Amino acid sequence: MNRRTLLKLLAAVSLAGCSGRESAAKGLRVVVAGAGIIGASIAYHLAKSGASVTVIDKQGPATHASRGTFAWINATWAKQPRHYHALNQDGLANWKVLQQSLQIPIRWNGSLEWFDSAAKQEKLVEQIAEQIEWGERARMLSAAELPALEPNVEFGDVQQVAFSENDGAVDPVMATRALLSAAEAMGAEIRYPCALTGVSPVSGRVSAVETSLGTIRTDRLVLATGAEQGAGIQFAGVDIPQRSAPGIIAFSAPTPRLLNRIIVAPGIHMHQRGDGRLVFGEQDGAPQNEAHSMRLTARPNEFPTRVIAEQHAERMLAVAKRFVPGIAGLGIDDVFIGWRPLPLDGHPVLGASPARRDVYLAIMHSGVSLAPIVGQLVAHEVSEGLTIDRLDEYRPDRTFEFVRRY
Ligand SMILES: Cc1cc2nc3c(=O)[nH]c(=O)nc-3n(C[C@H](O)[C@H](O)[C@H](O)COP(=O)(O)OP(=O)(O)OC[C@H]3O[C@@H](n4cnc5c(N)ncnc54)[C@H](O)[C@@H]3O)c2cc1C
Repeated sequence: MNRRTLLKLLAAVSLAGCSGRESAAKGLRVVVAGAGIIGASIAYHLAKSGASVTVIDKQGPATHASRGTFAWINATWAKQPRHYHALNQDGLANWKVLQQSLQIPIRWNGSLEWFDSAAKQEKLVEQIAEQIEWGERARMLSAAELPALEPNVEFGDVQQVAFSENDGAVDPVMATRALLSAAEAMGAEIRYPCALTGVSPVSGRVSAVETSLGTIRTDRLVLATGAEQGAGIQFAGVDIPQRSAPGIIAFSAPTPRLLNRIIVAPGIHMHQRGDGRLVFGEQDGAPQNEAHSMRLTARPNEFPTRVIAEQHAERMLAVAKRFVPGIAGLGIDDVFIGWRPLPLDGHPVLGASPARRDVYLAIMHSGVSLAPIVGQLVAHEVSEGLTIDRLDEYRPDRTFEFVRRY
């Protein structure tokens, strides 16, 4: 571990220690709507601070984006500008704390990324130089260095590959469940299927929320409802414009180790988990045609049939095989559709609603990378009534402009 990593880890630990303190939160009732990785992390940190927490989910823990995610923990070049990059860096550092305290397995072997266009490669070199300036352990590797790192990957005639050494990958479902179990052990209640249906009263202080399982009395509501359309306006009185896009995540059957690192190759992302399953994510998405558009209107998380699911997985595996021939013949275990919670400008939405101060919004992409730091900062703001300056860029009352980051 180098000095910079050690310093980051120490900073993370001290912040984690701070959230463990029993504070003004003692006895404060908080309902967290959404048991994805964001809601789970917020619930965990709130429970640690002494709040009385109830987590509700209309379906169940990690059933939406936090299941259909590639689960790459990173603060790579796409995390722009610098304040957002720094938030992601703190996400990584705080995963190391959670990994230890909750025994969550994470593979920290870094990522290898390259493109098939000369222009994009040139840009990647510039971006890696900026990453280095921003404190990332990143560098460009020459073709000669690659076989030792990834003997089973065919890199083709690429001359340089970006190596981001800090990156990791987690099983997001396991991590979500670990956070919820730890929250439960500290007194939190987890209820599902239980849909949030209303907030009362609609003006003034929140005193209760309405759910499909009845009324829950509460002092605060945290909306961690991910890509759910209209949740902001319905429950917080504030419109959060999102451009949520679907992505397909496929899991292979367990296989002896083929990949050591996260591979971000042209057209396909892949990594191999500790359980031997390979995880595949698409870069460009499924073909766009009328049949797909119709099927996607209802925003499904599952495919209509196993046959259609396998066709999509086979399409992705065909791309992956060009880079990892050892994949040939591998069986598919699962295929999911994930809808990215994606505010229009690509940045998280974090803060109390300007219309209902007791309703706090926590909606974001890169939620796997960010969950530990966001959970901690949100718990501070909600339980202690603090305003943390570094979250100022992400407030729900900002003007949202379209920015493509992913
Ligand atoms: C294909 C894909 C790839 C991705 N890759 C990465 C990656 O590599 N790295 C990374 O950091 N991020 C990645 N992301 C983003 C990341 O997965 C998400 O940001 C993160 O999972 C969001 O977590 P969440 O808890 O906010 O949302 P979700 O996991 O979607 O959870 C929201 C929950 O709210 C519940 N809910 C909604 N409405 C209600 C209601 N009215 N009442 C009760 N419950 C309700 C839902 O049932 C759901 O369980 C990816 C996402 C996708 C889709």
